[in-house]
Order: sequence, then structure tokens, then C-alpha cells
Amino acid sequence: MRWFANSVSSEPATTTPKVEGIAGYVTPYPYLDRLQEKMEERIEHRVPAAGRFCGFCYARLRNEDTRCPFCATPTSERATVGEIPQDVLRAYKLRQSTEARWVHTGAFTGMIIASLIFVWMVTWGPGLLGHPAFAFAELLLGGYFLAQFFGPLLFGQVGYRKGARKRDEAWARFLAERDGAAPTA
Ligand SMILES: [Zn+2]
Repeated sequence: MRWFANSVSSEPATTTPKVEGIAGYVTPYPYLDRLQEKMEERIEHRVPAAGRFCGFCYARLRNEDTRCPFCATPTSERATVGEIPQDVLRAYKLRQSTEARWVHTGAFTGMIIASLIFVWMVTWGPGLLGHPAFAFAELLLGGYFLAQFFGPLLFGQVGYRKGARKRDEAWARFLAERDGAAPTA
């Protein structure tokens, strides 16, 4: 992560997007969100590393493209490149791994809650609620739905925003290093 060390001397205060609380986060680079899935395919080696890429945002272009469909940069303005820089892929990886970590933590939280309910049911559950079969059904179904709820739905939202912010900050540092200033594109 070369750019982390370098960013200290290249005015990170002006190149790093400022965030007004997690819930209010809106990416200053919309094309990064649109490229996220394609970059993950590249990170996981599901698509070839070589190709024809936008010289500004590194979106894969078709042979006939003269303007990038993601960031609108004309190929006449910035020559296309043959591969995506590793620092750029690392920025997308930050978003991917941060989000995954939050989803897993949320799913785990949901299963812990289902387990606690299970223990409560078999120990203190009155009447039918205390029946082991009922408690096991709660453990399986409740575990599944609580893991879904706390994982992708609840914690996944937080992970998305935190991951997107990390990715955007890394991209801002990359731009500062590559172009010497943070473009507003
Ligand atoms: Zn582009």
C-alpha cells in the first residue's frame, strides 16, 4: 500500500473526501461505484488482466469506444492503457473486504441472538415455548433469518458505507499521486 505512506506529504487534507457521518455518505466518485463489480471480477481473476482500459478511471473499453462510458473521459484526452494499476485494484479490494467483514460480523451477531433465545426457551420458556422441538425450530429458522437481517441487511449497509469511504480515500490519494491534484470528475 505504497500510497498510504506517500499521502502524508501530498496534502491528504485537501484530497481526501470529507464525510458527514456514516449514514450521509455519498461517494464523490460515482464511477467508482459503477465499476466496483467489474473490478471485483478482475481482482478474482474471472476476467483477463490485459485489455483496453480508460486512461483516467481504468474501466474496460470496447475497441470502438472513443469516450469512457463510466467517467466520460475521451480517449483522445487520455490515452488508453493495457492494464489496471495494482494500487487501483487495492482501492476496490478495500471496499470489498470491509463490506464482507461487516456482513460476516452481522450474520454472527444474528446467530448469537438466535442461540440466546434458544437457551432462554429450553431453560425458562413457558408451555409450548419451552418444548425442545419448538426451541430447535427457533434456532434453525431464527438463526437463518436473524443472520440475514443483521448480516447483509443491517451491518451490510454500514460495511458498504465504510468500505466505499475507504475506497474513495484510497482513490483520492492515487489521483493526487498520479495527477498531482484531485480532479473533480
Ligand atoms: Zn473512464
